[in-house]
Amino acid sequence: MTKQYDLAVIGTGPAASTVAEKIAKQGKKVAIIEQREFGGTCALRGCNPKKVLTTAAELVARMGAFSGKYISAETSDNNWSGLIKFKSEFTDHIPKSSRKSYEEKGIDTFSGTARFLDSNTIACGQSEIQCKKIFVGTGARPAPLKIPGGQHLITSDQFLEMSTLPKRMVFIGGGFIAMEFAHVAALFGCKATILQDQPHILDGFDPDLASQLMRWSIDRGIDIKTGARAKSIDGKQEEFIVEFEQDNKTGHIQCDQVVHAAGRVPNIDDLNLEKANVDSNEKGIAVDLFMRSTTNPDVFAAGDCAASGRPKLTPVANEEARVVVNNLFLDEYSEQLASPDASVIPSVAFTIPPIAAVGMSANEIDESNKQVEVHHQDTSDWNSNKKYGIQCAGHKILIDTDSNRILGAHLLGPGADETINLFALAIKFSLTASQLKSSLFVFPTFASDVRKML
Ligand SMILES: Cc1cc2nc3c(=O)[nH]c(=O)nc-3n(C[C@H](O)[C@H](O)[C@H](O)COP(=O)(O)OP(=O)(O)OC[C@H]3O[C@@H](n4cnc5c(N)ncnc54)[C@H](O)[C@@H]3O)c2cc1C
Repeated sequence: MTKQYDLAVIGTGPAASTVAEKIAKQGKKVAIIEQREFGGTCALRGCNPKKVLTTAAELVARMGAFSGKYISAETSDNNWSGLIKFKSEFTDHIPKSSRKSYEEKGIDTFSGTARFLDSNTIACGQSEIQCKKIFVGTGARPAPLKIPGGQHLITSDQFLEMSTLPKRMVFIGGGFIAMEFAHVAALFGCKATILQDQPHILDGFDPDLASQLMRWSIDRGIDIKTGARAKSIDGKQEEFIVEFEQDNKTGHIQCDQVVHAAGRVPNIDDLNLEKANVDSNEKGIAVDLFMRSTTNPDVFAAGDCAASGRPKLTPVANEEARVVVNNLFLDEYSEQLASPDASVIPSVAFTIPPIAAVGMSANEIDESNKQVEVHHQDTSDWNSNKKYGIQCAGHKILIDTDSNRILGAHLLGPGADETINLFALAIKFSLTASQLKSSLFVFPTFASDVRKML
């Protein structure tokens, strides 16, 4: 059956839902297609359910810190299945309610894998969707990890669904997903090991603060092996043996579960992009400044599946989608075509405690030959952190010597995930360190520590 639309939207994550809803609101006829449950990664298998787990893990850490001091909670008896059930309260209703919400807005919904038949036609099961414009928001999926025994790996999707917590887990990868999950698992009583093939963990965050966090994590029982490449997984009866190579030596770890957290790739293989003359590479769909396919002006892409060069995060997907909404139905050379405003993108790994970054890194400053003041300090013994019960904290703030403008801010410690937003504002609006220091913040809050950092 063939149906006609102004716009076909592929995917239902943050990018796709923004585009579909806003264009439908303009009175255009929109179809939306999803191959899994409606809702996308962030809401169902990413940011939101993950934050339920990291918030719980932080609670366990804080109770552990104060147990015997002024509370008598027994933290060794945590209820993992209760936590996963609680997490479901945030996710289970989404597929049904989001599909219903599209339909109430006049958007036609299709279940199945979308693929291009030609430049303006999408097939989904038995349906053919003919449309003037197409938006691709198909997100990302775990990168293939081709090692013998790779079939034993579970992904972040399955980690978030585990009804029982294995006693021993190995996380392959040293990025934010591996570190966050290892902290959660460890605080709930699992022996967690990280195998990171790179020399450092948490690429994209300040290396000094990441090392401080790494030492703290190791002291709390997480085994972090850097420069350690997973070679194979052997599935024995009740356990797995992960073979790895580190310093030219072979090692083995026995465990009950192995999690693939070693990077994600754009989810574009099923789309038959070549049928619509849409160019792509290993980073995703090739897009221009306006989020438009470089080879087909009727096709736009945003979020994790677009090769935009920006970090793969939900606020970035939303911002790119906002631009797509503006550009979709403009003329090819219209002066009103807009580009994403993504000059300042804060990022956080929700480890316990969190680590955060915004603006330039110390490395980028070195390469730029700018003269900077570097305010780097271990603040683990500051009262705010002691009161909170998590004494692992520090900052590195980079201030331009000539202009006094803040160029980069790197935070570790309780509240870093919120406080980083203040620095994002300061950098975006070119505030000087003196201006930020002159602002009064509520005391005693983590934000009030900002003045001491400058
Ligand atoms: C474990 C985890 C934790 C994360 N934590 C954070 C965080 O704390 N903060 C943050 O900002 N970001 C986080 N992210 C990243 C964030 O989830 C993504 O950047 C965001 O979801 C990207 O949105 P999107 O719209 O591009 O795609 P997605 O949300 O991935 O949605 C894409 C949708 O397209 C569907 N699809 C794919 N191919 C087809 C097809 N051919 N036909 C039909 N449908 C298709 C998929 O099933 C999916 O539902 C996390 C990701 C993971 C995996």
